[in-house]
Amino acid sequence: MTLNARVPDGPLAEKWDRHRFELKLVNPANKRRYDVIVVGTGLAGGSASASLAELGYNVKTFCIQDSPRRAHSIAAQGGINAAKDYTNEGDSIRRLFYDTVKGGDYRSREANVYRLAQVSAAIIDQCTAQGVPFAREYGGLLANRSFGGVQVQRTFYARGQTGQQLLLGAYGALSRQVKAGKVTLYPRREMLDLVMVDGRARGIVVRDLVTGRIERHAAHAVVLATGGYGNVFYLSTNAMSSNVSATYRAYRRGALFANPCFTQIHPTCIPVHGDYQSKLTLMSESLRNDGRIWVPKTSGDKRPPHEIPEEDRDYYLERRYPAFGNLVPRDVASRAAKRECDQGRGVGETGYAVYLDFADAIRRDGRESIERKYGNLFQMYERITAENPYETPMMIYPAVHYTMGGLWVDYNLMSTLPGLFVIGEANFSDHGANRLGASALMQGLADGYFILPQTIGGYLAEGGFSDVAIENPAFEQTESEAAARVQRLLDVGGRRTVDDFHRELGHILWEYCGMARTDEGLTKAQGLVQELRAAFWKDVTVPGSAPTFNQSLEKAGRVADFLEFAELMVLDALTRRESCGCHFNEAFQTQDNEPLRDDEHCCHVAAWEYAGQDREPTRTIEPLAFENVELKQRSYK
Ligand SMILES: Cc1cc2nc3c(=O)[nH]c(=O)nc-3n(C[C@H](O)[C@H](O)[C@H](O)COP(=O)(O)OP(=O)(O)OC[C@H]3O[C@@H](n4cnc5c(N)ncnc54)[C@H](O)[C@@H]3O)c2cc1C
Repeated sequence: MTLNARVPDGPLAEKWDRHRFELKLVNPANKRRYDVIVVGTGLAGGSASASLAELGYNVKTFCIQDSPRRAHSIAAQGGINAAKDYTNEGDSIRRLFYDTVKGGDYRSREANVYRLAQVSAAIIDQCTAQGVPFAREYGGLLANRSFGGVQVQRTFYARGQTGQQLLLGAYGALSRQVKAGKVTLYPRREMLDLVMVDGRARGIVVRDLVTGRIERHAAHAVVLATGGYGNVFYLSTNAMSSNVSATYRAYRRGALFANPCFTQIHPTCIPVHGDYQSKLTLMSESLRNDGRIWVPKTSGDKRPPHEIPEEDRDYYLERRYPAFGNLVPRDVASRAAKRECDQGRGVGETGYAVYLDFADAIRRDGRESIERKYGNLFQMYERITAENPYETPMMIYPAVHYTMGGLWVDYNLMSTLPGLFVIGEANFSDHGANRLGASALMQGLADGYFILPQTIGGYLAEGGFSDVAIENPAFEQTESEAAARVQRLLDVGGRRTVDDFHRELGHILWEYCGMARTDEGLTKAQGLVQELRAAFWKDVTVPGSAPTFNQSLEKAGRVADFLEFAELMVLDALTRRESCGCHFNEAFQTQDNEPLRDDEHCCHVAAWEYAGQDREPTRTIEPLAFENVELKQRSYK
């Protein structure tokens, strides 16, 4: 397959404008003739559903949770970027574009990133108009703070609850359209498969998670906004229900999956404390604005932090990266923490933690000021660890947090399947091999409020749709396949729980496909994942039955997909013969242990096409051309 990204011609800054002009429009009165399915109600799906309905399309919106407001986006803490330059530091669309391309280690598509930077300011205006309570300066202007990989303050925030406040804004807009009858909400529904009719995405098959009934839904186009797949690692900062199933099922129907090995490991999370933990907690990157990261200079120094004098402390990020200090990008900070711990300088009981210390900031700005900025995060930390971070440094360690990989999409955010659009964390676009902090919310809302509502119109206006009802044989066939898969899970009747398999999968991936990778480890992981998948289908136990509320069954379906998807991740990691951003293969590193890219052979997106059960998928590449940014070794020194 040849990938056509459909990037418009012309100067970078004019592409989006020009594209919008060239896209065919659906006349306002005709919009009501089109039905669109949106799966997901996080910031991407919620904003897309509201915007599409506002335009006049008939929207059906689905989510796993009992309310759209419980989508994982609610967990986002630190903020959302925009090139407004309220701080008068010289920020601009170009700088946001440049920082994002560089932050992603030159593995994203220039045109998409530039458009993202262009619409970023409009997102803040939209959300402010909705009443999102962004933090403000004394004079009334919206306040800003810094995030990693950036030397200006462009992050808008609502204390440590930015995702929640943005989601309430999107939910308000969505509710208005529910009331107007333009959006029909289907909560507690899980998409089990995508329905293709005559080569176009025309519907989905879902399971009602309360009754267990399988339903069919038809439309003219389908939008997946189903979030990221970080939970393939079992332990992550993602919500427990985050999964890969919707995108993986679309992949099995022919949509290409791009860069699945690009997984972001966030440097500041509460360390793992035991084998029976099911979730990890993020301590927002915003804390690195004021917190200083350090370890004892001498390995094995077990003194409590307050007994370690300044001269015995190593503020290793400030030492190694003086220009960015504690605000280096996440991949850099995570690897640096791992290195300190691997060399014996880690702290805490396990030795797999580093300090994040606010003593200097509290001395400088006063406790009240720190409390105002991060109060809820400090409270959360204290509740989980029973330690008071105002008095003793936090202990943190990297954890799986975000996935840059996702379904491949073109400039219109359409996958390789006509009529299947993918937005938010579920697609691969914009962040390259490493996402900068506060850019996920920006991308999800750019996709949902501003980009998809335009590009989907271009697709619908092309027309050529046959009438498709849920009685169509393609629906019949897809439903019976989905039902058979559900039954197969129940029929195994083994002894090991779904969680047991999931936990083991997580161990394998963290060990061999995590922060540092080797060819040997990845090859080993391939075998281990295959063995684990075989064991799952022989020995998993799924209690209960199908036509009822059954959370074990829900989980089993998601873990079955994770087990297949994990193989794809590992294969992708093995095949990328370089290190870039979060993908660090130890065979490719500079003398300073930084990732060593191979721009001559690997400056591309790797997209995988399903080739059938137990057959190796086909790899296709989309070459990346950098015409506006010079390809350089990334440096934060
Ligand atoms: C703890 C934490 C803090 C973060 N903080 C920030 C931050 O400060 N700034 C920032 O920019 N980013 C942050 N991020 C990242 C950001 O929150 C996410 O990338 C973003 O919210 C994803 O939004 P989304 O709309 O794409 O998906 P989600 O919010 O994950 O929503 C997915 C939706 O899809 C639905 N769904 C999934 N599968 C199915 C299925 N099979 N059938 C039906 N429905 C399905 C779910 O029910 C849900 O409604 C943070 C992430 C974490 C984990």
